[in-house]
Amino acid sequence: MEEFLLYIQSRITVASVIEVCIIAFIIYRLLLWIRGTQAEQVFKGLILLLFCAPLCSWLGFTTLNLIITSAFTWAFILIVVVFQPEFRSALEQLGNNRVFKEILKKPSMDFLDKDVDKIIKSVKILAEEKTGALIVLEKNTGLNNIVDTGIELDAEISSELLENIFTPNRPLHDGAVIIKLWSRQVRAAGCLLPLSDNRALGSELGTRHRAGLGMTEKSDSVVIIVSEETGHISYAIKGTLYQDVIPDLLTQVILENFTVKEDGTYNSGWLRKLWENKDGK
Ligand code: ATP
Ligand code: MG
Repeated sequence: MEEFLLYIQSRITVASVIEVCIIAFIIYRLLLWIRGTQAEQVFKGLILLLFCAPLCSWLGFTTLNLIITSAFTWAFILIVVVFQPEFRSALEQLGNNRVFKEILKKPSMDFLDKDVDKIIKSVKILAEEKTGALIVLEKNTGLNNIVDTGIELDAEISSELLENIFTPNRPLHDGAVIIKLWSRQVRAAGCLLPLSDNRALGSELGTRHRAGLGMTEKSDSVVIIVSEETGHISYAIKGTLYQDVIPDLLTQVILENFTVKEDGTYNSGWLRKLWENKDGK
């Protein structure tokens, strides 16, 4: 007996204790989850089968044992198919878990307000000075192909940098700046955007506005345009141009579009998009 206890003691490690705790917790949560659901009966049946198999083998009921063992192999697939809605809701609950939310949500939400303020500050100054500007706020649609048409910067967002870029006759003032708010980066400047061929656009609007609008027809980005002719601030989103807006409204629009909501949702990350498409939303 003493030998046996010593043997057990020698086999217990910190890792094995942690492992047992994790397994116990998983089983506990599983039992809590299936209690009172349809799955409870199925689970009881499975437990019964689990005890029947060794009993049959001990009694020498080979055929019965074979049937029970093969039933177990198929039971897993059957359970997944039959309880697909339950599994789905459990996974959704898991997705709503705080830890998972942290992983799934886009980073740097705490800094969004500050970064948007910096952008709006520069936009205000550029508008007052009647300096033309074109700023693309990248969202879920990747804009690597657009970044490739300009000069890559990968710089920190600052109003000074943006004002500097668009100052006339500076090397990068022509074209668009690409900002990725979710990674707090000014990705590139001097980028060429696709022009919109929207005929409804007024003839007084030239290529800067057409390029800004075109970008939002081909991506989910939000584009800010400052006119050098009028000093007006406009923005485009989903193929619509909103002209001559006040900076406060622009701030609101950007925050609405880029803030991760409390329940962990945001406007279509690739994971969510996949889920939404699956549901046909
Ligand atoms: P503004 O009101 O500022 O005059 P606009 O809509 O009338 O704007 P233009 O006067 O044609 O436009 O502005 C030309 C500038 O727009 C170019 O110098 C360039 O910086 C920018 N631009 C034009 N086409 C593109 C494009 N495809 N991609 C990025 N920037 C562009
Ligand atoms: Mg013009």
